[in-house]
Amino acid sequence: MAVKEKEVGLGSCVICGRAALRSREEGELTMIEGPNALRLKDGGSLCGSCVRRLRVMYPLQYTFDEAKRTVVKKDPLPEISTEEALQANSEVVSFREDMREHYGFHNAVFAADAMAESKGGFMQPPIVTIFGQVLYGSFYMQDEVTIISGGKEIKATLEAIDTYEHRIPMDASSLKDWIRRTWDPGRSVGENGYLCKLVVTGKGISVKPGDLVVKD
Ligand SMILES: [Zn+2]
Repeated sequence: MAVKEKEVGLGSCVICGRAALRSREEGELTMIEGPNALRLKDGGSLCGSCVRRLRVMYPLQYTFDEAKRTVVKKDPLPEISTEEALQANSEVVSFREDMREHYGFHNAVFAADAMAESKGGFMQPPIVTIFGQVLYGSFYMQDEVTIISGGKEIKATLEAIDTYEHRIPMDASSLKDWIRRTWDPGRSVGENGYLCKLVVTGKGISVKPGDLVVKD
């Protein structure tokens, strides 16, 4: 078992006043263990739950390294000041509402940047892995979603959600294995501002960069 790093206190959160505890080196870049506390550019701190709340306004920025097939992530939050964080906190509710309105009031919206298909096995539909970023809301395993591509709407069930570090498609055996290891419909690693891959099964699913996956 990995040795858990000791938590480091970053002082009080500039928004809520609770202790900003930083326990993992890059915990804020995925949703696996939840957002981590961080230090703002002027030395103020944000606790993990305030990071989570503001993340919708400051989504992770990322580029894809084609040669290594890996994602390079950058967090814009440590680059803002205490004043900007307080301002964002006062605007985040209306920001989220404006976003919902912009995207037709879906409960959650994901923007795709790539997809990969692999065989589902004998008599089984293909497995489609959709890579991208959650714009707002949260996705969970077994969610019923709609893939919107070129004016077409395809209904699908989310078989799996995982973090997005590499563009490696899930094949039938790794999907089964993943579900066995992590089965928990209440667990979400697909939350606003974070990157993830959504896994669905079905024939004729095609997703282009910029296509949306939505949940109502
Ligand atoms: Zn806080």
